[in-house]
Amino acid sequence: MNLDYTPDEIAFQQRMRAFFAANIDERLRALVRTGTRLEPREYVAYQQLLAAQGWGAPTWPTEYGGTGWTPTQYYIFEAESARADAPQQFHQGLELIGPVLFTYGSDAQKQKYLPRIISGEDWWCQGYSEPGAGSDLASLKTRAVRDGDHYVVTGQKIWTSYAHAASHMFCLVRTEIRPRRQEGISLLLIDMKSPGIRVRPILTLDERHHVNEVFLDEVRVPAEDLVGEEGKGWNYGKVLLDRERGLSAALGLRLGQYVRVVKSRAAAVRLGATTLLADPGFRDKLAQIEIEMLALEYMGLRTLADAVAGLDSGPRASMLKIRWSELIQRITELWVEALGYDAACFAPLDDATDLPADMPSPMASYLHARVTTIYGGANEVQRNIIARRSLGL
Ligand SMILES: Cc1cc2nc3c(=O)[nH]c(=O)nc-3n(C[C@H](O)[C@H](O)[C@H](O)COP(=O)(O)OP(=O)(O)OC[C@H]3O[C@@H](n4cnc5c(N)ncnc54)[C@H](O)[C@@H]3O)c2cc1C
Repeated sequence: MNLDYTPDEIAFQQRMRAFFAANIDERLRALVRTGTRLEPREYVAYQQLLAAQGWGAPTWPTEYGGTGWTPTQYYIFEAESARADAPQQFHQGLELIGPVLFTYGSDAQKQKYLPRIISGEDWWCQGYSEPGAGSDLASLKTRAVRDGDHYVVTGQKIWTSYAHAASHMFCLVRTEIRPRRQEGISLLLIDMKSPGIRVRPILTLDERHHVNEVFLDEVRVPAEDLVGEEGKGWNYGKVLLDRERGLSAALGLRLGQYVRVVKSRAAAVRLGATTLLADPGFRDKLAQIEIEMLALEYMGLRTLADAVAGLDSGPRASMLKIRWSELIQRITELWVEALGYDAACFAPLDDATDLPADMPSPMASYLHARVTTIYGGANEVQRNIIARRSLGL
């Protein structure tokens, strides 16, 4: 595995570094490095900033308005973005439905939807999970019945991130009941302003509103907004698995942001004549986390090398997801430890950290990090994938 960048890649890295240094303001940096969930308008503003550079879709082919970057260029872009505490782009339009559309969508769908994802005009939410269908997604029950040139959709989705801000939802629905549950599922593009849609907020442990229940009551969806063939919606998810290798390589890059904040806080906590950062017990935990972060970074680089060489990385995307999610939880735990009594407070901690006064408490970030082992495919389910693909179980 050759880890050296070529001269062109080094020039690209310098260009990215200069861009991020010049264009990300301090407030946004502070939000990002504390793991604070951004508001939709903040994501949109960032998307517009990148789109103005022609970088709105870093992983898409040029024919659909993407950059056409290589996996290595994308990795460098992400690494420089993380280094500057810039946000990650909101991924549900860019990385979930966008690639499905340019791979399986009709020409009309490509023309209508893809440019508006890049420009940030449309905001997509993902309507997959239901009260009885999470890990076992194939048991979803939301029904779509064909009625002339429309589908009529009735059912309920849950945990739908940012549905309250979304203009559209890509939604898995059941169009037919078949013995094999993965068959008979279709993928519909739904305008969130359609009559019959009701969005109800769910407040999460960190007392913030980001996920929702979405109720669909006889929602009429034009048949032209069916993606690909009726009943084949399950297969379209596979395109995402193929893209996953290149994307997951960059997964660990952002953990360093949190570690920098933890160190800065621990350096400010006095323990007699010394500081918490100098305490051997605390240092030991921090060092262990940093070692594992380095290992994660190298696993990411191996995945990147495979993606560049067109090789299959096996279940490494699952391994990366497990290690990343566990590490982010441990780092935020250490952060709470460093805050001591202050961590009990849910209000802004303007005097206790280097955060601006309008930031939420790090406790909110700690609580929110509990979700990382559940979403994006629960970790137990990822372990099943590893067991099946690596161990043949
Ligand atoms: C904050 C947040 C945001 C989300 N955003 C979205 C979104 O935008 N759109 C969307 O569609 N969904 C979203 N989800 C839903 C998410 O995808 C599901 O929560 C996830 O798939 C798990 O499903 P579940 O909650 O039904 O739990 P379950 O699937 O019921 O799992 C419960 C527990 O059982 C374990 N388990 C389940 N099956 C197995 C198995 N076969 N072997 C071993 N253990 C197993 C799980 O690992 C977990 O620990 C979000 C969830 C959260 C918490």
